Amino acid sequence: MAFKIPDEKLIEVRDASDIVEVIGEYVQLKKQGRQYGGLCPFHDEKSPSFSVSEEKQVYHCFGCGAGGNVFTFLQELEGWSFSKTVTHLAKRSQIDLPNLPAVAEEGKDSKSAKAMKAGHELAASTYHSILLLTEEGAPGRVYAEERLFSQDQLEHFRIGFALDQWGTLAQILENKGFNLEEMEASGLVAKRKTEGYYDLFRNRLMFPITDNSGNVIAFGGRIIGEGQPKYLNSPETPIFQKAKTLFHMHEARPSIRKKNKAFLFEGAFDVMAAWKAGLPNSVATLGTALSQDHARLLRRNTEDVVLCFDGDKAGREAVRKAIPILQEAGCNVQVGLLPEGYDPDDFIKQYGNQAFQKLVENDCLSVLSFRMHDAKQGKNMQNEGERLRYIEEMIQELAQLEQSVEREHYVRQLSEEFQLSIDVLYQEIQRKEQQVQKEAWKHQQPKVQAASQTKRRDQSSRPLAAHLKAEQLLLAYMLQDGEMIWRVSERLTNGFNHDEHQALYAYLLSFVSRSPKKGMKEFVESLEDMKLAKLAAYLLMQPLKEECTEDELNDYIVRIEDYPKWASIKEQQQAARLEQDPIRAAQKQMELIRLKKEMQSK
Ligand SMILES: [Zn+2]
Repeated sequence: MAFKIPDEKLIEVRDASDIVEVIGEYVQLKKQGRQYGGLCPFHDEKSPSFSVSEEKQVYHCFGCGAGGNVFTFLQELEGWSFSKTVTHLAKRSQIDLPNLPAVAEEGKDSKSAKAMKAGHELAASTYHSILLLTEEGAPGRVYAEERLFSQDQLEHFRIGFALDQWGTLAQILENKGFNLEEMEASGLVAKRKTEGYYDLFRNRLMFPITDNSGNVIAFGGRIIGEGQPKYLNSPETPIFQKAKTLFHMHEARPSIRKKNKAFLFEGAFDVMAAWKAGLPNSVATLGTALSQDHARLLRRNTEDVVLCFDGDKAGREAVRKAIPILQEAGCNVQVGLLPEGYDPDDFIKQYGNQAFQKLVENDCLSVLSFRMHDAKQGKNMQNEGERLRYIEEMIQELAQLEQSVEREHYVRQLSEEFQLSIDVLYQEIQRKEQQVQKEAWKHQQPKVQAASQTKRRDQSSRPLAAHLKAEQLLLAYMLQDGEMIWRVSERLTNGFNHDEHQALYAYLLSFVSRSPKKGMKEFVESLEDMKLAKLAAYLLMQPLKEECTEDELNDYIVRIEDYPKWASIKEQQQAARLEQDPIRAAQKQMELIRLKKEMQSK
């Protein structure tokens, strides 16, 4: 969304938000010389390669290449927009932003949405204190004890208790000046037939549901003792859409990103059990099927998703439906099926934390293994017809898989299990393959995307070509020494070869001509493009010699300016070789040598 915060406000927010402090809220930082180091929050690592410079107000990870300023850090880690990030930092330092369109981003009824969230926050702290601190909270505490909730769990999930009374919360909200009509629309209270309002949640163990920024927007409650319904979630409201909300997502996000894996459960109580068993990266849907929005939300934070569902018929059905939605969003899916009729809580109580971790972490099934397992359920393998139907279904599945070790593995497995010849199986698969090619293409696309992303990451660790290295060095000098900006711009006639380098260079030139008095800190802050901010942070962190001599500068410029010529000769040489024209190829070789000599003598 087009959104412009006045420059002076942006600077005020930035100056008040020290990067070491802000990042320190997420990462344990230790002072190392002139910088701070810690474990990177963007990738899983055991020894720290993440470094933050207080002086330059940037961060950079030498492991995964993440980097940027205080704004990009929160944008990347929390998944926030730029305006949301600035708003958050302003609030943190009690800076008023004028007429914030960021609020408009949350919808036109933002004032009422704000009030609804405030009402929910008050309700959450009320329920929580009733459970922990009051005499009336005793039935809640007894129930929590019976269910073996730990103190840590009660605190981490802010679990509370709604009294078995009709008007407790309504009264508190009214006393605090909340508009009860608005609170009714937010799902906390309901209107009486006669007059006034009553509490929607009564005699329940309560757990707050938060949005992506950690605001309480809804509740789930489990009845204590007998009564219906056993589990009650807030209704859909202007601030709570089930199809867009995953339970525990805000709290789990740092560990999901760190482990690049999320465990997806069927309900909030499963997540609480899994968290206690040592899986902090657990989330759940809230009484709805997995939606595309859920899948995208997951994919923004991780590539790998493990579906941890009940192995019964309904659970398998839910897994079948969730797999394509997740795959389409670009997730790698695995399935951790619980034994039929068990939920995580039962399972952990009976078999312990380690068995549970093993089940969902080490023993989880690939999508194909799950389909094999699933297709067998309810079929009598002694019956020839049903057995053939099963084999047919599996051939269909295998045809959709790329040729791989994995496919070979399953073909062999199928051949051994049913004493079928491997050749016959492959023939059948090939026949099916032609039929499903179109379909397969659709399923493969997200995978291809994911694979190319990993590839890109690998490339960053490869040594750079000489001309790119020269470009980066010059940019690094320019960022660290204002004098260099003029020295380079006087000499460089055609600009840089690499698009991102050229973009950064152009931004830099326009920045210093517009605001000659501002420093590089301001320049990096002014970069809203994440890629460029990342590049700038990386370059700012490069150790450089005190001074770049004329000779060195000359050398870098030559490398950069001669590269296009060099590339074109190389291309022609390649073309000549392909045409099998040895004379032309040799001519080009000579030209290359000449050019090299020329460059060395410049
Ligand atoms: Zn990293």
